[in-house]
Amino acid sequence: MPYSINDRFASSRLANLAPQEVARHLGRTRRDFLRDATGMALGGTLLSASPFVRAATAKKKRKIIVITFGGGARDQETFAPEGQVNIPHMLNELAPQSSFFTQVTNHGILGHYVATASLATGVYETLNNFSAVPPDHPTIFEYFRKDLGRPVSDAWVVAPSNGFNRIGESESRSYGAGLGAQVILPKRLLSAASSSTTDYSHLLHDNYETPLYAPQVSGGEFELQQLERVLKLSVDDFTQHAKSLSSPDELSVYIARQLMRQESPSLLWITMHDIDVAHSGAYSLYIDAIRRTDRLCAALWKAVQEEPEYAGNTTLLVLPDFGRDADEDSGGNGFQHHRTGDPASRTTWMMALGQGVRPGVVYDSPVQSIDLVPSIGVMMGFSAAQSQGKPIRELL
Ligand SMILES: [Zn+2]
Repeated sequence: MPYSINDRFASSRLANLAPQEVARHLGRTRRDFLRDATGMALGGTLLSASPFVRAATAKKKRKIIVITFGGGARDQETFAPEGQVNIPHMLNELAPQSSFFTQVTNHGILGHYVATASLATGVYETLNNFSAVPPDHPTIFEYFRKDLGRPVSDAWVVAPSNGFNRIGESESRSYGAGLGAQVILPKRLLSAASSSTTDYSHLLHDNYETPLYAPQVSGGEFELQQLERVLKLSVDDFTQHAKSLSSPDELSVYIARQLMRQESPSLLWITMHDIDVAHSGAYSLYIDAIRRTDRLCAALWKAVQEEPEYAGNTTLLVLPDFGRDADEDSGGNGFQHHRTGDPASRTTWMMALGQGVRPGVVYDSPVQSIDLVPSIGVMMGFSAAQSQGKPIRELL
């Protein structure tokens, strides 16, 4: 039984509040909890000057890594008091170093591809979640590469599903063609590399939400070239290593580490997705996935410290794409889906740590998912001209 009676009582009281009040309450709960659990200070007024180093040379070396904490995770299984047991790494290792935003709201469509595309464009995209189409608005990768004149090797996306293979580049006339990020699909790589009899089906599961949309994961020549030319991995080494991995997100982090080593992109975007196994209805699998994602976030931050290209000049931003339905919303089935559009499914958090970030501060001022891109724009020195979000003051 995942919740105490007190928590249930608190949740049922929430059901009587207006959505905005609920969002505020969720944010406050996270804030109080973080302050109590980690001794983090409460932000609000900016007491010190910005720690950002604005010199041009520093900006040039600056690396940004975005991790979407994958596939919709609710508060009550993460940063709310009853969720703390599931996120020991983020809570004890990462949160004390971070600026933590307790109230990040997603006002867009709650499907994983469209929501991740919205995070990447800074506009609530309205594209069909279940079709592999490019975002309508320029992506962060295009702004970054065009404004700063960066080469194609400097922006990469590691994406969980074949449905994400167009996320790196929009069809915007002023950006688009040839200015986006390269997208790597670890499952497609593995599928291309594994002609042997080894069963990798646990690493190749593409979509948890609807069996009606399961794009073919078929490997090809292009993937094998990426493996050898970009990642400098032989087919044998890769498939051997894959045998030791337990989930698609572990495979993604392995690929991301390889990319960091070989290409050292300045802008690296990793979309996790294991948590979305919740659609199966198995609470224990959902919790396992949260714990794994928690561990993988910490492992990636450790990898940053170990890579000379990244250590000391990297900012990591971790945020869920959205939440999942509340238990008491009769239109849903609790943690299983994200269909109701209630505050629990829209209100999440964001953690920022590393270069230029004030450590150990909690902010409960409301921000939106679409504020991510313009904020990174200010950090790196590009203009997210068509984004509808605004830079998050506390990060600048
Ligand atoms: Zn889902």
